[in-house]
Amino acid sequence: TKTINLKNRPKGKPELSDFDFTTSEVPELKDGEILLKTTYVSVDPYLRGRMSDAESYIEPFELNEPIVSGCVAEVLESKSSNFSSGDFVTGMLEWKEKQVVNAENFRKVDPDQAPLSAYLGILGMTGLTAYFGLTDIGKPKEGETLLVSGAAGAVGTVVGQIGKILGMHVVGIAGTDEKIEMIKSEFGYDEGINYKTTENMAQAIAKACPDGVDVYYDNVGGEISEAVLFNINKFSRTVVCGAISVYNNTELPKSTSVQPFLIKKSSSMQGFVIFDYKDRHPEGIEQLADWLQKGKLHYEETIQEGFDNIPQAFLDLFEGKNKGKMLVKI
Ligand code: NDP
Repeated sequence: TKTINLKNRPKGKPELSDFDFTTSEVPELKDGEILLKTTYVSVDPYLRGRMSDAESYIEPFELNEPIVSGCVAEVLESKSSNFSSGDFVTGMLEWKEKQVVNAENFRKVDPDQAPLSAYLGILGMTGLTAYFGLTDIGKPKEGETLLVSGAAGAVGTVVGQIGKILGMHVVGIAGTDEKIEMIKSEFGYDEGINYKTTENMAQAIAKACPDGVDVYYDNVGGEISEAVLFNINKFSRTVVCGAISVYNNTELPKSTSVQPFLIKKSSSMQGFVIFDYKDRHPEGIEQLADWLQKGKLHYEETIQEGFDNIPQAFLDLFEGKNKGKMLVKI
């Protein structure tokens, strides 16, 4: 079976040459194990962090070992009483066409309840990140203004919709006019700002958020987030979810000092990782599934095809080639 390994730790922007392909035999099944065939692979910005050997909340990938990410797979054979062949499961899998795993670490998913890909997006890590980040850390209130960076991506499209469900004025920042059009027409955003064609971001944010920003849901960090600081309201909250604009930096950035802004506005900034909410995942999934079923939430996916295209799909995240959740169908 084919496997994709980390060949080099990327320097700056990752490249195709940082990955390599090997083949290996699939071992015999033992008791409690299942043989899986990968169906969908999630590629995520946070994998960039695991490709470095810097200390983080999650261990780095080993060189010449397979990359691991969230996947949906089909059970081909089972020696576990919990699964039968033909079932579909989700969990963390190596980037392999087929593999044998301990059944304990996997959850069955029902293709009749939602399309299989949804379990890696709106009903998976992406949806949960949007939901807990906004509701728990953002502490949103009806009538407030929510600003979202990375607004057309997997997490951002969900955050904006939840903001609208909660009765907020919602403004998004994204990198193309087409994405701005999409977040407004498909995801209910009231206003959008294309950061690639806007000269003065602080001014553009002031215009789109005439009452200032109460909650800033930050997926990108860097200069965009610095411009937001000029527009935060008294007692505002910044949800530090991601910082994709600096993941490939090789030097420490010359950063704006955020403290004076936060002091002046009694404003808070809090980071989080979705694993912090592990015990509350079922509650989050239940809420997201309910909104989805009632037609209050929609989702967008960019699906690339073919096992060999997984590394390219990952690289494309840093070029903004996705709308909504980026996935690879095998
Ligand atoms: P996205 O679907 O949002 O994909 C990444 C998007 O980031 C691209 O489409 C691109 O859109 C934008 N982007 C890329 N480079 C830059 C840049 N230099 N400046 C500004 N925008 C850029 O990914 P996810 O929704 O999966 O993740 C969004 C963020 O949330 C990431 O930072 C990720 O690390 C974080 N995250 C955090 C979690 C947590 O537990 N804290 C869990 C999951 C995700 P555009 O065209 O608009 O530039």
